Amino acid sequence: MPSTLLKNFIHGRHVDNSDNAFFDVINPSTGQVIYAVQTAGETLLEQTVTSAQEGFKIWSKTPAIERARILQRAAAILRERNDELAKIEVLDTGKPWQEAVEVDVQTGADAIEYFANLSTSVMGEQQSVGNDFFYTRHEPLGVCLGIGAWNYPLQIACWKAAAALAAGNSMIFKPSEETPRSASLLAEIFIQAGVPEGVFNVIQGDGVVGNYLVQHPAIAKVSLTGEVGTGKKVMAAAAGTLKTVTMELGGKSPLIVFEDADIDEAVTGAMLANFYTQGEVCTNGTRVFVHKDCYATFMERLLVRTRDNVRVGDPLDPTTNLGALISNSHMQKVLEYIESGKDEGATLAFGGERIKPPGCENGYFVGPTIFTDCNDDMRIIREEIFGPVMSVMTFDTEEEVIQRANDTIYGLAAGIFCQDLRRAHRVIAQLEAGICWINAYGNSPVEMPVGGYKQSGIGRENGIEGFKSYTQTKSIYVGMEKLEGPF
Ligand code: NDP
Repeated sequence: MPSTLLKNFIHGRHVDNSDNAFFDVINPSTGQVIYAVQTAGETLLEQTVTSAQEGFKIWSKTPAIERARILQRAAAILRERNDELAKIEVLDTGKPWQEAVEVDVQTGADAIEYFANLSTSVMGEQQSVGNDFFYTRHEPLGVCLGIGAWNYPLQIACWKAAAALAAGNSMIFKPSEETPRSASLLAEIFIQAGVPEGVFNVIQGDGVVGNYLVQHPAIAKVSLTGEVGTGKKVMAAAAGTLKTVTMELGGKSPLIVFEDADIDEAVTGAMLANFYTQGEVCTNGTRVFVHKDCYATFMERLLVRTRDNVRVGDPLDPTTNLGALISNSHMQKVLEYIESGKDEGATLAFGGERIKPPGCENGYFVGPTIFTDCNDDMRIIREEIFGPVMSVMTFDTEEEVIQRANDTIYGLAAGIFCQDLRRAHRVIAQLEAGICWINAYGNSPVEMPVGGYKQSGIGRENGIEGFKSYTQTKSIYVGMEKLEGPF
């Protein structure tokens, strides 16, 4: 077992499991085991539920302004420890340092600050009905469960915890087995900031551990970020006790470049939408539709910039802008998709291979890959790859591209590049996607609700909508006159 051992974080402290079951975590850029993690068994899972129930009793009665003050302190600590946390994210995920140091911790802290600020402005309604009246209270749900994916481990933990805790809930969070460390540090930071014990617990393990809690009758809500297949399993398991669910799932999003687009900006958008975080972003615009009149210019500039500006290498090197994929098995999956693209007749215009950067020869790197001559039926067009693989197609008319963009089971995101304002809004209104960008791609400020249409998800995270999803409405009718009845 590696010398460093991460334990489950329950009721304000790291807790040993009794059987010492553990799993290893691998640095994707080296293929080396970097630490081990204790798996939560049934005893710890029950302990975490009891702890979260106790935490909820205290936290839900803590005045919102006090909760806000405590959460603001946690956000400040996150910002102070930005570089330390960013490094953990780089080592666990393989993403470039230059991204983690600017984005991952800061967007997590943004979420905590935003929801902390919102928590004091929750107001009910009051309405007269004759001489009687009613009012409403927005109350927390209870113990919520957050289950995270591995691509933005800290950000996902912060987004879920921030909304849940600001609304007065407690949360048990299960990070992905591949990236378990930052959520545990977040739990320590919450305690340091003054969040009561049990309000944010982190349990470790795989889908079996997640499933145990999803089915647990004491859990009021499950918020999952993961694949569509996992979403279906979790939703089915949650149905047994009729829990509320929020599902942030996968996608195969279209990015449409019209003939009047600023082509340099469209190329920037397409590269961001496919190569950022080495393509491991749920909202990626992997189906790039380019109008036939600007296709030649778009491709020429895209290929030059991919060749000259994408730097695959050691993720800790600040000049690297494309890091390692999360695991060997995921790299093999991405390489198989690339093979299937070639087999199905697409033209490999760039890349398509595993890369072994100096010093990281055993890491899981795939270089930026661009396919052209794709058609709508190929697997690389229909299935989520979650790697740096861009597929470019041409189109002729607005009507045609809208129909093709919507021809998918997914509906997470969509982007368009064009100068014609009316066209931009007309087209966006017809795209079946929950998160859309016009002349931009990928930005997701916490103020903006995010979530998917169709099989890409249920419910919304972030924004006021995300906050409300962690509350339930109680209506209270008040009789002001003598009550009379037929009995
Ligand atoms: P997975 O669906 O494999 O896993 C997500 C989480 O669910 C992990 O913590 C996993 O545990 C857990 N899990 C797996 N099975 C179960 C189960 N039966 N019950 C409860 N929990 C379970 O996703 P990945 O981690 O591979 O992440 C990539 C996926 O996430 C992509 O599809 C991507 O599009 C999507 N995603 C969506 C986002 C969005 O906001 N819409 C954002 C980011 C990613 P473990 O892995 O430890 O076994």
